[in-house]
Amino acid sequence: MSRTVDIIVIGGGHAGVEAAWAASSVLPNGTVAFLTMDASTIGVMSCNPAIGGLGKGQIVREIDALGGVMAQAIDATGIMFKMLNTSKGPAVWGPRAQADKDEYRDEVQHMIASRNNIEVIEATVDDIIVENGEVTGVMLDEPLLAKAVVLTTGTFMRGLMHTGEAQNKGGRVGEGTAEGISATLKRLGFELGRLKTGTPPRLSKKSIDWDSLPSQLGDKNPTPFSDLPTDNFPPLPQVDCRITATTKEMHQLIRDNLDKAPMYSGAIDAESGPRYCPSIEDKVVRFADRDAHHVFLEPETVHGDSIYCNGISTSLPADIQEKIIPMMKGCKDAVILQMGYAVEYDIVRPHQINATCESKLVRGLFLAGQINGTSGYEEAAGQGLLAGLNAARLVQGEETIVLGRDQAYIGVMMDDLVTTMPREPYRMFTSRAEHRLLLRADNSDERLTRFGRDLGLVDEERWETWVARAHHLEEIRHQMKELNLGKLVKKSDTPIVEIVSKLPKKLDPRLIRRVVTDVRYEGYIVRQQSEIKRQAKTEGRKIPAGLNPNEISGLRNEAVDVLKEFKPATLGQASRLAGITPADITLISIAVVRFNSNV
Ligand SMILES: Cc1cc2nc3c(=O)[nH]c(=O)nc-3n(C[C@H](O)[C@H](O)[C@H](O)COP(=O)(O)OP(=O)(O)OC[C@H]3O[C@@H](n4cnc5c(N)ncnc54)[C@H](O)[C@@H]3O)c2cc1C
Repeated sequence: MSRTVDIIVIGGGHAGVEAAWAASSVLPNGTVAFLTMDASTIGVMSCNPAIGGLGKGQIVREIDALGGVMAQAIDATGIMFKMLNTSKGPAVWGPRAQADKDEYRDEVQHMIASRNNIEVIEATVDDIIVENGEVTGVMLDEPLLAKAVVLTTGTFMRGLMHTGEAQNKGGRVGEGTAEGISATLKRLGFELGRLKTGTPPRLSKKSIDWDSLPSQLGDKNPTPFSDLPTDNFPPLPQVDCRITATTKEMHQLIRDNLDKAPMYSGAIDAESGPRYCPSIEDKVVRFADRDAHHVFLEPETVHGDSIYCNGISTSLPADIQEKIIPMMKGCKDAVILQMGYAVEYDIVRPHQINATCESKLVRGLFLAGQINGTSGYEEAAGQGLLAGLNAARLVQGEETIVLGRDQAYIGVMMDDLVTTMPREPYRMFTSRAEHRLLLRADNSDERLTRFGRDLGLVDEERWETWVARAHHLEEIRHQMKELNLGKLVKKSDTPIVEIVSKLPKKLDPRLIRRVVTDVRYEGYIVRQQSEIKRQAKTEGRKIPAGLNPNEISGLRNEAVDVLKEFKPATLGQASRLAGITPADITLISIAVVRFNSNV
């Protein structure tokens, strides 16, 4: 007997959680079946127990402005909050927080359980049902039917873990693998790739000479990620990290054993690992002239014993890991609780999805997270939110949504994914966003909350909070004018505290800083906005699916091939494809006009 729900979300990682949550917000009277291998691992942090960072923190703020889970979960469970990059301009500040990873997982599960219309089902999905190019459900013991399916397999699709020569099937230590789904996707015509990533060893805090090491503290006045009001922030006790470093001797031992590290030696049958999060094997070879690299010792929970060694992800054999750890200062007697390991896994090459996360091959099948070749919780969560939103819109019979590069980092990421062929895990950076003065962490609500409200993502409480904040921002601008502070505010070396001291006490210093930033960037922002307006005509112009690249008059063969491979949805996307020139865009746009006038 089959059963029917509205939407199926497969995978309980960060992408799956946001997808299920967003879909359940948009369809409050619908049913979202949330299928995952093991319900107790929903919301687990696979690697680093931290959320946010440069570029990534902006994504978390955008998820919050759109009513998502991640910001609220980290605010409830963060144990060290730090605003990164504060020596640079506020456009590139990046909020980051370490989490108590057990509490984080529990908080996410608690939020999911609070939604009556999300039904969690434990199952490993091997088969997706497709009829006439449209998804109709998944095959469990019985068919489970739905109009839309969101697939978020993370590092689990044919996941294979390596520690030296030891290999274990699985996407994460102690967990299983999704074996069947790769074959299903291939059968449906998808081109798969294979990527790899790694994680460092975890040490017992008790066995580290903790007090001998310099500490790294969080911010004195931590900034929450979420815009929702909280009385008690941060609710958990705050911890400090310690800093140690690799040594010359350690580098030598690693060099002597490179052939035993599958992440490095080529024994892993995958294209590439994350260049921006390299293994220690990679680092000692790539930066051969350096005698030491920082290693941050980060508590994984408030009260537990496990310490994450940020900076030395490795796939070296266990006996070598046992030898290198004691070579770091403070770690002479350190006990390894869990060995570092690498994991290789299948991905779907992302040129096969639209910027809405919907696959081009199967109507109603959405892909989000690590399956699209990205790396990181935040990137996964951002895609998950968009996929869940669009799956719900498809069910409603509404047009799916694309976020612009000038609207959100999530929009930048989606556009990058569908216009490039990533050969290594894709990670967000502020440098990827050409409009980063507009896309700041502090103004995500201004950019997205009304938009989210119109789409059904933003609830009453968040909406009212935003309306009140918008009035507050207006009041600050008004007071600055009234008190004639214009010149003082514009001068980039006037300290914020001085401006705050001249304004009425009732005004929030964080929001004052935001208005000051707007004023100081005003000239650049106006220029960026007029550039965006200028490009808007080409940017959003749709390329009809029926336009055959072979029939575009005068188009070079290379451009024809690129168009066939990527099937860009708009002229803007086409213009960013490698192999497409401005002259090609002119020919394509003429062909679009002709095509449209003939239909
Ligand atoms: C060893 C390791 C090292 C990592 N290192 C880094 C790093 O250095 N930097 C970084 O940014 N990120 C790293 N990550 C990646 C980070 O964990 C992911 O980017 C993030 O978790 C991706 O989220 P996701 O939702 O796409 O997938 P995941 O968090 O992997 O979640 C996938 C979920 O889907 C479920 N699932 C999978 N297939 C099926 C199926 N067929 N049926 C039912 N359920 C299924 C799984 O059980 C799991 O719940 C690492 C991950 C691992 C495992």
